[in-house]
Amino acid sequence: MVDDALAARARSLDEEHHDTDLRGRFRLPAGTTYLDGNSLGALPVGVAEAVADAVTRQWGNDLIASWNTADWWGASARVGDRIGALVGSAPGQVLVADSTSVNLFKVVVAAARMRPGRDILLTDGDSFPTDVHIAEGAARVAGLVVERVSPADAPARIAELGDRMALAAYSSVDYRTGELWDLPAITRAAHDVGALVCWDLCHSAGAMEVGLDDHDADFAVGCGYKYLNGGPGAPAFIHVAAQHISSFDQPLTGWNGHAEPFAMSPDYAPAPTIERARVGTPPVLGVLALEAALKAFDGVGMAGVRRRSLALTGFFLECVDALVPGIVVASPRDDARRGSQVSLRHPHAYAVVQALIARRVIGDFREPDIIRLGFAPLYLTHADVLRAAEHLREVLGTREFARPEFSVRGAVT
Ligand SMILES: *Cc1c(COP(=O)(O)O)cnc(C)c1O
Repeated sequence: MVDDALAARARSLDEEHHDTDLRGRFRLPAGTTYLDGNSLGALPVGVAEAVADAVTRQWGNDLIASWNTADWWGASARVGDRIGALVGSAPGQVLVADSTSVNLFKVVVAAARMRPGRDILLTDGDSFPTDVHIAEGAARVAGLVVERVSPADAPARIAELGDRMALAAYSSVDYRTGELWDLPAITRAAHDVGALVCWDLCHSAGAMEVGLDDHDADFAVGCGYKYLNGGPGAPAFIHVAAQHISSFDQPLTGWNGHAEPFAMSPDYAPAPTIERARVGTPPVLGVLALEAALKAFDGVGMAGVRRRSLALTGFFLECVDALVPGIVVASPRDDARRGSQVSLRHPHAYAVVQALIARRVIGDFREPDIIRLGFAPLYLTHADVLRAAEHLREVLGTREFARPEFSVRGAVT
C-alpha cells in the first residue's frame, strides 16, 4: 500500500504546485515520462510554427531583407536579454552565440588579458569534460596554468593562491551528481583576491534562480538546449558583467563583433556593447527557435520554478527510499545543495537506463555508473515522478535490465 500513499502524496503535491504546472506549454508524446530535459529540453508549443514562419516567410519570401525587417541582426542580443532575465542578468550583458565550449574559450582568454601578471586558472577537474578541455586549451593560448580543484575546496585554495589567481571557472551545478555549488562563496573568494569568475550555467539556467548580478558574477556561459529548451544544437549564451564589457578583449575577433561590421574595415575595432562577444554570422534559425522556446517561461518567476524543481526531486527521493531502498543516491538530499536532477549509482547503470527507456521513462547514463534523471520543472508533475520510481523498482526487482538488448551502446549515451 506504499504506492497508494505515494499516489495520494503525488496528487496533493501536484495540487500544491498547480500554479507552476506548465505542461500545456509543451508538446510531449503521450505515455512518456521525460527525465532528460537536462540534456535536450522538450519541444515547447509554438516553436515549430515560429521556425516554419522563419523559413517560409522570412527566408523564403522576404529573403535578405529579413536581416532588417525581421531583425535577424538584433536577434543575438534580443534573445540574450530574454535569457538574462532568467539568470538574473540585467539587459545588455547576455548574448546568444556559438556553443558553450566556444564561449568559455572567449572568457578564459579575455579574463587572462584583464589580469596580466596572474597565472592561475582554477577549475573543477571533474567538470563536464569540455569545460576542462577548453580550460586547458585556452590556458595554453593565454599563458595560464590550470589548477584542478573541487568547487568544495575552491574558496580556501583561492585565498592561498592570492594574487596568482586570474580566473576561477566553475559549473554552478555538477552535471553528474546534480550538486549545486556555492556560487556566492566562490565568487566572493575570487573577488577578495582580485580575481575574476566564470560560471557555467548549463545545468542551472531555466531550472532555478541564479542571480548573476546579485552575486556580482563577472562572466557566465551556458547551453540553449537543456532547461531552456532551444532544441538540438541550439546556440549557447555568454554573460559579461556591464563593468567588464569595455575591457572584454576576447580572442575570436570576427567581423560580427566589430563596432561597425558593415563598414567592412580591414582594421578590427570591437563593438562597445555585449555584441563584441559575437564572432561570425549567427545560426539565425537556431536563435529564432530558441527565442520561441523561451516563451514557455513567459510570466513565470524563477523562484516558483525552483520551488517546483525541489518539490519534484525531493518527492523522487522519497519515492526511491520507499520503493527502491538500498540504491545509492549520488545527489545531495539537502535542498540547498541540489540542482534539478537526481543521480543514482548502479553497477549496471547503462542497462538500467536502457530498460527504463524501453518503458518510456527517458533518462540518461553517465560514466561510470550513474543513472541520471533530470527533472525539468516546467513540464513534469509529481505523478510523473512516482511513475518513474515505480518503473525503476520493476526494472531492478525483475532484473529486466539484464536482457542482452539493454547492453548495446549507441554513438550517443
Ligand atoms: C552540456 C554541457 C556543455 C555542452 O557544451 P557544448 O559546447 O554546447 O557542447 C558544456 N558544459 C557543461 C557543464 C554542460 O553540462
